[in-house]
Amino acid sequence: MKANCWMGRNTVEVQEVPDPRILNACDAIVRITSTAICGSDLHLYDGYIPTMEKGDILGHEFMGEVVEVGSKVTKLRVGDRVVVPFPIACGSCGACDHGMYSVCENSNPNAGLAEKLMGHTPAGIFGYSHMLGGYPGGQAEYARVPFADVGPIKIEDGLPDEQVLFLSDILPTGWMGAEMCDIKPGDVIAVWGAGPVGQFAAASAFLMGAERVISIDRFPYRLERARRAGAETLNYEEVDVLDALRDMTAGRGPDACIDAVGMEAHHPAGIVHAYDRARQATRMETDHPYALREAIMSCRNGGIVSVIGVYGGLIDKFPMGSLMNRSLTMRSGQCHVQRYLKPLLGRIRNGDIDPSFVISHRMRLEDAPRAYEMFKHKQDKCNKVVLTP
Ligand SMILES: [Zn+2]
Ligand SMILES: [Zn+2]
Repeated sequence: MKANCWMGRNTVEVQEVPDPRILNACDAIVRITSTAICGSDLHLYDGYIPTMEKGDILGHEFMGEVVEVGSKVTKLRVGDRVVVPFPIACGSCGACDHGMYSVCENSNPNAGLAEKLMGHTPAGIFGYSHMLGGYPGGQAEYARVPFADVGPIKIEDGLPDEQVLFLSDILPTGWMGAEMCDIKPGDVIAVWGAGPVGQFAAASAFLMGAERVISIDRFPYRLERARRAGAETLNYEEVDVLDALRDMTAGRGPDACIDAVGMEAHHPAGIVHAYDRARQATRMETDHPYALREAIMSCRNGGIVSVIGVYGGLIDKFPMGSLMNRSLTMRSGQCHVQRYLKPLLGRIRNGDIDPSFVISHRMRLEDAPRAYEMFKHKQDKCNKVVLTP
């Protein structure tokens, strides 16, 4: 089959690789009909996530048709149409019992690697480094899906791929980012990052009753998308975000702040960016956390900072004093996608949200190298790319 493979920093190649096979009685094989490139794939592309190997198949946002099931799979049949969540979860460990699917205790065969960096291991993730399981991803014609009775959700009506594909990651991730804010009517929510996850976080915040959402980014076309969805916007290259947020909230700050940017945030002041970039290059710091620092400093006293942007390791100059002295609560996590599939599919079905609004480009799997470059450099107003094998 054809698959999009990581070949080193800033290089992906669509290669001919062996078809996946059932390795465990709980596996299914899915023929992929749609797959997307995620902002977090760029962290791999840019070489910031350790334990990638040449030839690893990328992709953790995919859906398709079941073409084969293992002997212990009872809920799926050949021919079923499914969306596959990006975290791989066993469904029966302590974490899964509590709905904490993205920290499943049984799905990372390389737990030792993750423990070295993080203390304990989270769940395995499709196409996301050997430290997180070394699972081949879904930017391919076929994928092996472990624990097939637990993760995939069947799409039984005629909803098109484009409306349900993002259940695999970015819609539930944005939703969870807003949910962690405990939104009450009248709340003002600030969202760093107006990419697809930030756009879904903003839309979710409105659905949960937020009165105002303020989106922060530097790309005018993304801010324009946020405004179309009802958000107010700040371009951090044009204003001081802390000052602006203070002005917009009568001096108090937003009730909750969502970091939908993560480890590769860009800072408008060159010197600050250079400092963090140098520390990142020398491995003294793995992530540069401008968005997170700003989210903490901006949040109102007693407010919530919700982190859904991906971080890989260590950060520097973390404003712990602000967090502690001002009674902030910080919440975070890779999304427990399995928990949100049914309720969010229901919302798509009844028209509360049509997630296809984030798509800017539809391309063939073979075009993945060009799509990665375009997405990385934000060419042609690239917001979200869907690939079809
Ligand atoms: Zn993703
Ligand atoms: Zn589990």
